[in-house]
Amino acid sequence: AKRLGRNNVQWYQAEMEILQNKRLNLRAMLKQAIENQEFELYYQPQVEAGSGRLVGLEALLRWQHPVQGFIGPDEFIPIAEETGLIIEIGQWVIEQAATYNRSLQQRGLAELVMAVNISSLQFQREGFVEQLEQTLNKVQLAPKWFELELTESLLLENIEQVIHKLQHLKQLGISIAIDDFGTGFSSLNYLKRLPLDKLKIDKSFINDLVTDKKDAAITRAIIAMAHQLELKVIAEGVETLAQSTLLQKNVCDELQGYFFSRPLPADKLEVFLKNYLPS
Ligand code: C2E
Ligand code: CA
Ligand code: CA
Ligand code: CA
Repeated sequence: AKRLGRNNVQWYQAEMEILQNKRLNLRAMLKQAIENQEFELYYQPQVEAGSGRLVGLEALLRWQHPVQGFIGPDEFIPIAEETGLIIEIGQWVIEQAATYNRSLQQRGLAELVMAVNISSLQFQREGFVEQLEQTLNKVQLAPKWFELELTESLLLENIEQVIHKLQHLKQLGISIAIDDFGTGFSSLNYLKRLPLDKLKIDKSFINDLVTDKKDAAITRAIIAMAHQLELKVIAEGVETLAQSTLLQKNVCDELQGYFFSRPLPADKLEVFLKNYLPS
């Protein structure tokens, strides 16, 4: 049994080394990625539940490495956060998404709110709001067409500073959505203190919504609470007509998911926009 134990330890260390090397590699590759223009934004449509009208897009980052191929954000965002590279990458995302939204409007293709995911480190940085304001100014996108998706955990650090920043954002006309709502361990206390606009119900509640009574109950409760607080609600991960119909019945305001469209690169999105008919 002892020998087996040692082998297990060795095996474990070897695995750890491989993992660590992989992370070191990713780290080095990430540094190059911006310069080499290996990032691209995909855009996923958001629809108004009642009318089926398109109301927004969520920008989702994609990384195509010339040798390693496609690397998903769940893999590289955590490393970008650890290394601080998320600051530079995040700023690129903001500028790219805002520029593209402006371009959609100028070409008369769509008037939609562009939602962008913001990392905690990025949001906490001094001057974040000012830099965002400058960027929107520079690309001439009106702030009301821009939305930040923040996670609950972010709201808990440094609460006074967070409130201050959110008030500044609100005053500029930029809207705030809470991403992955219901998955954090945070208290609901912040909901009454913070100037928010929208809650985004995490897709883990939407997955089995139609068959799981508990998921359905939680979803209905989130929607009711949000409306009482005068917040909008969007559901993510809507994959089927049955989910969409149920969410509509439960007066969820907006829907997003593969049922409507996968995240699309700009050219494909524009084909989608031209052909889209609200149903
Ligand atoms: P998220 O913000 O919760 O984004 C939702 C994820 O669900 C996206 O994965 C999206 O492609 C996927 N999705 C959309 N509709 C459906 C559906 O109907 N079914 C299923 N199963 N999945 C769906 P993605 O694009 O791989 O992004 C993963 C996470 O990476 C995001 O989760 C977000 O936390 C992070 N991320 C992506 N882009 C950025 C970015 O620009 N900045 C930061 N800080 N984080 C980002
Ligand atoms: Ca999001
Ligand atoms: Ca989510
Ligand atoms: Ca997330």
